[in-house]
Amino acid sequence: MMTLPDLTVLRPGSVAEAVEALRANPGARVLAGGTDIVPNLKYGMYDTRHLVALRGLSSELRYVREHQSGELRLGAMCSIDELGRSELVKARVPALADACRQIAGPQLRRMGTLGGNLCLDTRCVYVNQSHFWRSALGYCLKKDGTVCHVVAGGKRCVAAASNDTAPVLLALDASVKTISPRGERTIALHEFYVADGLHNTVLAPDELLTEVRIPAAAARRRQAFAKLRMRAAIDFPALNLAVALELDGHSVKSVSLAVSALAARPALIKGLQDLHGHAADAIFAEELGRRAHKQCKPLTNIGIDPGWRRDVLPVLVRRTVLRAIG
Ligand SMILES: Cc1cc2nc3c(=O)[nH]c(=O)nc-3n(C[C@H](O)[C@H](O)[C@H](O)COP(=O)(O)OP(=O)(O)OC[C@H]3O[C@@H](n4cnc5c(N)ncnc54)[C@H](O)[C@@H]3O)c2cc1C
Ligand code: SF4
Repeated sequence: MMTLPDLTVLRPGSVAEAVEALRANPGARVLAGGTDIVPNLKYGMYDTRHLVALRGLSSELRYVREHQSGELRLGAMCSIDELGRSELVKARVPALADACRQIAGPQLRRMGTLGGNLCLDTRCVYVNQSHFWRSALGYCLKKDGTVCHVVAGGKRCVAAASNDTAPVLLALDASVKTISPRGERTIALHEFYVADGLHNTVLAPDELLTEVRIPAAAARRRQAFAKLRMRAAIDFPALNLAVALELDGHSVKSVSLAVSALAARPALIKGLQDLHGHAADAIFAEELGRRAHKQCKPLTNIGIDPGWRRDVLPVLVRRTVLRAIG
């Protein structure tokens, strides 16, 4: 049986108190729904002695609101389940509601939060294992070791970003609001993730994600999310993606395609501007698939055949784009 290490759980009652708890306890980690951090603590992946629990912040950080600017604002403590069911989210960002409904299973969606999903730790078949298992392998760069078992000679962890809300929010140009002892900041999601599986966001250890902001324009964009996984429920993505399109009649005015679960950073497919003005048709969908295939190289980080994931990618892109076009 795997047990939790000895920890002190701090229970602030407000955002200000949570920021103070993080400041006063260097190395403390944030506990939101706990669906990811608790198993990782049991695996012995973190050396922290303090958890800062966010449940007491629900009255401040649990909301779905339309701002007067037209932005949709989502509090970090919204549960994944309520976002999947919210009429406002379904109407304004249907791809996000769809992604939320495909995360884990019902119990985990009720416990898991949006903030926790966006800050989810990266995953790898060589690290999401018991301490005993990892010690037998000699550990790895991500925790206690010096080598990477995925990329021989690799100097950087390439564990997979596995959060299903990230590609949708990336494709829709969302941003996040954060707070730390140094004040608040707003970070565009395309600048939030970094290509380092050890810690794949720009969040400082004492920084809290408080809100997600989705531009008003997102509601006008055709959008769709798709996820590849071994079973139709519970499983983390083997590959996930989201497309957002603005159409002018039958031609493409703008397009964004985000692909994730392959490497440490959810990625926007680059160089799609030349497709603006193209007819929104099957040839366009095929071309997006071809470009994603060229730019994405799945690794053995999640224990599912990378060659198969790469072969499926253009097919999933084509189908998802056609679904978005309707
Ligand atoms: C069996 C199983 C299947 C799963 N399947 C999926 C899946 O298919 N897709 C998917 O996306 N996820 C999946 N998950 C992961 C997880 O359940 C969800 O991602 C969930 O949304 C995480 O939210 P949480 O509130 O529980 O996060 P927590 O576990 O509380 O936190 C996760 C991480 O984020 C940090 N954190 C949390 N909130 C904040 C904040 N506001 N500011 C700063 N840092 C913060 C924590 O410190 C921690 O490092 C699965 C988990 C399990 C156990
Ligand atoms: S990608 Fe390499 S360093 Fe990162 S967790 Fe996997 S084996 Fe460890």
